[in-house]
Amino acid sequence: MAEECIFCKIVAGEIPAEKVYEDEQVVGFRDIKPAAPTHLLFIPKEHIPTINDLTDAHEALVGRLVRAAQQTAAREPLSGGYRLVFNCLGDAGQEVYHIHLHLLGGRRLGWPPG
Ligand code: AMP
Repeated sequence: MAEECIFCKIVAGEIPAEKVYEDEQVVGFRDIKPAAPTHLLFIPKEHIPTINDLTDAHEALVGRLVRAAQQTAAREPLSGGYRLVFNCLGDAGQEVYHIHLHLLGGRRLGWPPG
């Protein structure tokens, strides 16, 4: 756990979150400032700052994040589809330096993103 990391605090239960998913490696919760009718975040319990910090040892974990998102999407009103996004570093708009997979849906999403 990284001491000042807001997402590590959510994993530890030190700050509240509306959890939608949890297993031994991953937590999913609703984004506090939703950009779409459904906006969820899936994070590893392990503190990994950016996608650039992933190693071979994390391959199964990244798969778990995607599967957690897919499984949760099936329980949301997302029959029209949804988007999964990792933002990496400043140009992509990364604000929280603990990797997180965004799941966005419930409206028509523009492409390419701004
Ligand atoms: P990013 O810009 O990819 O780093 O996304 C960070 C996301 O985390 C943003 O969509 C924020 O709204 C969201 N966020 C920040 N703090 C919290 C929190 N305490 N609970 C839920 N979502 C949060």
